Amino acid sequence: MSGTIALITRLADEPEAQYLAALRGAMPDETILPLREMSIAQRLDSTIAIVANPDPANLASLPRLTWVQSLWAGVEQLIACWPQDGPPIVRLVDPEMSRTMAEAVLAWTYYLQRDMPVYRAQQNNREWHQHTYRKPSNIEVGILGLGTLGAQASQRLLDAGFRVSGWSRTPKQVDGVTTYHGHEGLDDMLAAADIVVCLAPLTPETRALIDKTRIARMKAGCALINFARGPVVVEADLLDALGRGQISHAVLDVFDVEPLPTHSPLWLHPNVTVLPHISAPTDVHTAASVIAANITQFRNTGQVPESVNFARGY
Ligand code: NAP
Repeated sequence: MSGTIALITRLADEPEAQYLAALRGAMPDETILPLREMSIAQRLDSTIAIVANPDPANLASLPRLTWVQSLWAGVEQLIACWPQDGPPIVRLVDPEMSRTMAEAVLAWTYYLQRDMPVYRAQQNNREWHQHTYRKPSNIEVGILGLGTLGAQASQRLLDAGFRVSGWSRTPKQVDGVTTYHGHEGLDDMLAAADIVVCLAPLTPETRALIDKTRIARMKAGCALINFARGPVVVEADLLDALGRGQISHAVLDVFDVEPLPTHSPLWLHPNVTVLPHISAPTDVHTAASVIAANITQFRNTGQVPESVNFARGY
């Protein structure tokens, strides 16, 4: 083993201290220090950094850096500020996060399938009106992104009896899931889905993916769940579609600007459910175990864990 592991974050003191304690607990034989506490000698010798929203300028003080472990699963912000010859970025792939996200997808799919927003609104008006029950087997959930999170969410939905389709960049075969890929595939999937769930990473290709043209191809009255990143959906086009009933309801956990500004029309929109980026938070302890396993593998073999493909953007 060699070299201090640098922790570089722009988190508030308390969450940073929690991550530090969990990481030290998971790797008792390693020395892990916030960058600001590292000596010059420790910086010159360090080969691994663990980061959350780091200031890229800080990374320049670690000349031997071989790879960087992100505390987040989504790394678009990191990629955007990464030097062209920067070290590989390993994103967080944590089974506990996949489980939590699959649970969130199922929970909010049920919320829409059981018409909860409609009944809540009726209650506000003391209105007694029974809507026709829709079975899961009559509802098609289309998942944008069949990666780590999308694949597990699909399985959870299938187990609950929903019809599931999924869209990815490369062709995929998943038991029980109708799969699509590429631009034409996307149009076909959108046309068939009753609920569209966005779980694709934000990349140059997926930015503004769900815009007015794509929304026009969706089934009239379908619902949208965005658990990926705000800019994948064009907010103004979504608002317009909600106003016309083309989209009946949107459950949004992610936004162009977070926290969602108080003046945003999304807050009080009757057909929008606003969540404060909570669909699958990083679990400090399981994340620390996953990261410890990555670092142990690197120490033992010299092999950097699977890293982000900069050209692809995820
Ligand atoms: P992942 O394993 O990298 O999977 C990404 C999936 O999206 C893959 O199936 C990929 O296709 C597909 N994809 C990417 N670009 C595409 C394109 N241009 N066209 C079609 N499909 C495309 O990522 P993940 O771990 O599932 O995470 C997905 C995203 O969830 C993260 O990037 C993050 O933004 C978000 N997230 C949100 C929260 C939250 O709390 N709201 C928590 C965690 C993560 P291929 O399979 O062909 O490569």
